[in-house]
Amino acid sequence: MVHSTYKIHITGTVQGVGFRPFIYALSKRYIVSGNVSNNSKGVEIMLNADSITLKQFLVAIEYEYPPLATINNIDCEEIEFQHFDDFKIIETQESGEVTVNIPPDVSICKDCETELFDPKNRRCSYPFITCTNCGVRYSIIYDLPYDRAHTSMKFFQMCKACEEEYTNPLDRRYHAQPIGCWDCGPQLKLIDNVGRDVSTPTIINKVVELLLDGNIVSVKGVGGYHLMCDATNEEAIAKLRERKHRPSKPFAVMVSDMYMAEELAVISVKEEELLSSKERPIVLLQSKSKHIDLPPLVAPNISRIGLFLPYTPLHLLILDKLNRPLVATSANVTDEPICTSLEGLEKLQGVYDYVLEHDRDIVNGCDDSVLMVVNEQQIILRRARGYAPVSVKLPFTLKHNTLALGANQKNTVAIGFGDEVILSPHIGDLNSIGSVGYYEKNIETLKRIYNFEPEVIVHDMHPSYESSKYALRQAQGEENIQVELPLVELVETQHHYTHILGVMVEKQIQGKVFGVAFDGTGYGEDGNLWGGEFMVCDYEGYERVGHIEYFKLLGGAKAIKEPKRVALSLLFDLYADEALTLLNPTTQAFSKAELKTQYIMWQKGLNSPLSSSVGRLFDAVASLLGVCQVMSFEGESGMILEELYDGSVVGYYDFTYEEGVIGVLPIVQSLLQEEDTIVAVSKFFHTLIEMIAVVYQEHDTLPLVLSGGVFQNRVLLELLFERFPEAIVPNLFPPNDGGIALGQVAIELKPKEVE
Ligand SMILES: [Zn+2]
Ligand SMILES: [Zn+2]
Repeated sequence: MVHSTYKIHITGTVQGVGFRPFIYALSKRYIVSGNVSNNSKGVEIMLNADSITLKQFLVAIEYEYPPLATINNIDCEEIEFQHFDDFKIIETQESGEVTVNIPPDVSICKDCETELFDPKNRRCSYPFITCTNCGVRYSIIYDLPYDRAHTSMKFFQMCKACEEEYTNPLDRRYHAQPIGCWDCGPQLKLIDNVGRDVSTPTIINKVVELLLDGNIVSVKGVGGYHLMCDATNEEAIAKLRERKHRPSKPFAVMVSDMYMAEELAVISVKEEELLSSKERPIVLLQSKSKHIDLPPLVAPNISRIGLFLPYTPLHLLILDKLNRPLVATSANVTDEPICTSLEGLEKLQGVYDYVLEHDRDIVNGCDDSVLMVVNEQQIILRRARGYAPVSVKLPFTLKHNTLALGANQKNTVAIGFGDEVILSPHIGDLNSIGSVGYYEKNIETLKRIYNFEPEVIVHDMHPSYESSKYALRQAQGEENIQVELPLVELVETQHHYTHILGVMVEKQIQGKVFGVAFDGTGYGEDGNLWGGEFMVCDYEGYERVGHIEYFKLLGGAKAIKEPKRVALSLLFDLYADEALTLLNPTTQAFSKAELKTQYIMWQKGLNSPLSSSVGRLFDAVASLLGVCQVMSFEGESGMILEELYDGSVVGYYDFTYEEGVIGVLPIVQSLLQEEDTIVAVSKFFHTLIEMIAVVYQEHDTLPLVLSGGVFQNRVLLELLFERFPEAIVPNLFPPNDGGIALGQVAIELKPKEVE
């Protein structure tokens, strides 16, 4: 057989995932010589082989690659013959532009779990056991390439035993960067709420005792701290709610295993798959009609519960001993990002009783991911740990290096170059100085790691979004800059068009679509707050072919939290000052004096921006039916209406549709006459589907694409798929504003010219 030399280049998530030892093992199987190395673009293999062996080798790569790897592309070319004595793994070369992906943090693998509970194993009960196929990644990375020296593990000197595993290509811990053990790796510490070290020799036992005693323990996890308490202890949960000023927003619950999960919720095959996937997200599930153990305070008035499985060895050790569900909610101050350090956590000193701390730094914060399954489709509500950062292939090439700044709520950011986008994890709402700082840090991290400088910055059209202000600061340049920076071009995008673009990118759609964006509020081209939009779109632009008739948001931003203001505004639209004497849940939620003030506001248009938002329409319905007048968390009204929906109710409410404008006042009139709340809610849901049908029938040759925060509503999604089985909604990115950054990058796409 004639041997030739081949150069194979592989791109994708191929670093820090055990790719080189995998190739090394293949070289032993196929008895070939050469070498394998990481470079800034991926993995490179030099191989001396005959053509048949080469083929087998390539097939093996394609079908057997390590569990955490993803392959974007394999390139193979024959080069000038070179001689190799054997097959070697070559150390990382650092240079040039970085295009490899940062691997996300994943849960502990089965092999490590087995060792964790094996009394004979030297890492038995070690809370940071890990291997090449599992554990922390993104959250400990300062820089690429992904080597121990570029992570917060650099502060731990490996012991001899660990080093032997780390350097043996055939060991399952070969180059596992976070490798460590009782002798050399990170260690736990227990701290009380005034900062005293109260560690004991058996910290886990102590923590379990504290939890069973009703204490709130803040536990340092992967991308931040959790606040944890016994989920079966109503008093503890009440204490947590009171201390965290969180009266009713549901808490997520961590359960030991699938058996415990199944005691608490109805779980489909698909849901089980997601729960136990290596990403271990929080999955929103149907609670079992009678909670066996859980007090309703975990998720008041809501029949769904967010469950997740332990994803670190530390969680496993706690839950193994505790053997009951744990409330596990992100440790953060309202409107602030998740706490990632003990100093940051000090702000919550009044909330927790103890902190389970350890000495491995969290470099990049990352929340838990949240998703649900509707009609066998995965709907991501928060894309973070396990899923992010992520690289997405674009359907076309970008014109410029693009930085996309996202929106103001549920923010994510993205950088785009070539035909690729890297999307950050969920950053959160940009409503506080702390959150804006965290936002800027995330942008800087992406820029640094990817050695990226934007030529274009894309931001939302809304002038008062923090992201838009950030864009302006970048374009104007910071004051003390000595060197001349290349000019950055700013591009602004319309919020709802961007929502649809995000789905088009995810689904690699190339032509025109009919987009429906049902959303909270986003800034429109006319300065009004859009959110019930029908658009014909492609990458070049959009035409707004329909929308919900404008109504006034009395009190502006206040109306977004107070459904009663939106409902009252619609009542004024219908009955003018006669609404003042009406007796219904909405008017009764105001004092007489308040009603008069609101009326004057409505009449004169004072602090009353116009809106076409379907999100606000949900609010209005909730108020008119007397089920929610003021919300304690975003999306509460929609959740309550979801609960009241009854699938056996038929029919919908009439609305008008003229010249692209959907008039909703007839719906309000009908709602006021409806005696049964459940009938009213159910018909309202059907009415929304009917609206989509009416506008879509004028454009039904185009694919139907839907996005926006309102499509997080399970009932609406179910009805949508029932009526339009072909409807396209986002599955890999959130329909809420977490998907905006992806759409913003798409504005810079350069579709191929039609020849
Ligand atoms: Zn492992
Ligand atoms: Zn060690």
